[in-house]
Amino acid sequence: MSRNRKYILDLSDLQYKQIRLPFKKKILHFLLWFSVSLVLAAIYGTFIENMFGSPKEKLLSQQVENLKLQYTLIGKELDNSIAALNSFRLSDDSRYRPILDMDSVPESYRRAGFGGVDRYSDLKGFLNSDLLIEFKSKIDEIKVRATVQKESFSSIAEMSAEWKREMDHFPGISPVSVNFRLGDGYRWRTIHPVLGTPRMHNGQDFEVPYGTEVYATGDGKVIESGWNTGGFGNCIVIDHGYGLQTVYGHLSDIKIANGQNVKRGDLIGISGSSGLSSGPHLHYQVEQFGTHKNPVNFFNSDVSVEEYKDMIQAFESKSKLR
Ligand SMILES: [Zn+2]
Repeated sequence: MSRNRKYILDLSDLQYKQIRLPFKKKILHFLLWFSVSLVLAAIYGTFIENMFGSPKEKLLSQQVENLKLQYTLIGKELDNSIAALNSFRLSDDSRYRPILDMDSVPESYRRAGFGGVDRYSDLKGFLNSDLLIEFKSKIDEIKVRATVQKESFSSIAEMSAEWKREMDHFPGISPVSVNFRLGDGYRWRTIHPVLGTPRMHNGQDFEVPYGTEVYATGDGKVIESGWNTGGFGNCIVIDHGYGLQTVYGHLSDIKIANGQNVKRGDLIGISGSSGLSSGPHLHYQVEQFGTHKNPVNFFNSDVSVEEYKDMIQAFESKSKLR
């Protein structure tokens, strides 16, 4: 039996007969049903909204929660950036600058522009002013610290390049690479081996066989190359800059020309016994700002402490004069 149909018992013939409503009445019934449904739906909707909030509000509140989470994460990233910049500052102050003999960058310079004036007054009076000011101040601190750090690193890089240049020019190695015996050292000689008169020995002699290769002990420019009338025979003088010069005497052959630039370790000549010499050896001299220095104190950086002690002992106890 269909629900939409209504029936009535006809007592005249005891039969159920369908009641057919007029069209107007049908419309009226529909409108009544529709209106009641609307009212019920509105009441029900308001009740749900009051209890749990509308879907739109729910979505907005989710978005707010998401934003809060994102702000927290960004805040942590900002803190991490500040911590990283601080670790760069510590490396600067405890490693690079002391090694290169540079002063630390003062903290007042690293934090220049902070404190004192209320720089965030325009951010006050908003709902989330505290958060805005906190973020803005952190970002400003990062900007200033990063700029100062960049400058600091570039001055460290410049200084380290300058140090490398100076180190490369420093006459810091032995001028011969064969096993050698140290001959006469830097000292006053009562008798010159050839002249037989007292004379200062301004360098270090290397007892090496005739024909031994002789190397530049540091980067520099050749300022003398040829016969030396002072007694060094075939002689080379290299200017290393920084007030330093080296002299290589009694050579049998010269491999570089005057004015030529040389690098540490370049072959410059061959040892011999030219000039005022009593036997094959290399005479090596170091001058700093025109003053003769003991060469042993320059080229000992590539020997061990024991070797250095032996070397000093050998040249101090040396009785053979040349
Ligand atoms: Zn000598």
